[in-house]
Amino acid sequence: MQCYNTSGGFLHTPIEEVKENATKSLEQGIKGIKIKVGQPNVREDIKRVEAVRQHIGDDTPLMIDANQQWDRATALRFGRAMEEFNLVWIEEPLDAYDFEGHAQLANALDTPIASEEMLASVGEHLELIRHKSVDIIQPDAPRIGGITKFLQLTTLSDQAGLALAPHFAMEIHLHLAATYPQEPWVEHFDWLDPLFNEALEIKDGRMYLPDRPGLGFTLSEKMRGWTIGTQEFGKR
Ligand SMILES: [Mg+2]
Repeated sequence: MQCYNTSGGFLHTPIEEVKENATKSLEQGIKGIKIKVGQPNVREDIKRVEAVRQHIGDDTPLMIDANQQWDRATALRFGRAMEEFNLVWIEEPLDAYDFEGHAQLANALDTPIASEEMLASVGEHLELIRHKSVDIIQPDAPRIGGITKFLQLTTLSDQAGLALAPHFAMEIHLHLAATYPQEPWVEHFDWLDPLFNEALEIKDGRMYLPDRPGLGFTLSEKMRGWTIGTQEFGKR
């Protein structure tokens, strides 16, 4: 699955460092770059997007993520200013539960709208599908009740013609996203790497499924060292 880097462009990261991080990610074989937006001054965001687009060139996929920072008017103005940068998507432009606001924005802009990592059930996601709020759905399996719920939802989102870019926890989502008819985007964070003995396999812009049993990841000794206690359930 196509994969993009999420952790190099936080709001507090100076722009020169964001550019260096983007270069490093691309060298590691990660295909796309996502940066955060939502600075108090919107002009600052526009400058940062422009700087990154110039740095990585027109052919490298670029996404932005506002983490619900804007009201409807700001999101629309900003979204219009973004059209020229050919973004893969604008993520979480509005409050996660503003389904109508998302729908208006998705309708008004050419740039696809992605959202809803924060929704906590299939039912909430159905509201989003019903309102035609997004072009790209971003469910989080641990947050909506696990693998079965995720697969129920993605059957419905495929029927609705939405693209898929699951949120975080790629060690699980990689397998689930692989079942989707349109090739999804998966995100790459290095935060979880110390938890596992195995590494995610990334090559030529894509993340590959492991052929090991189960999810293909085992907990590392380092991770066990961070565990402060254990409890067993279901034993008599
Ligand atoms: Mg996000």
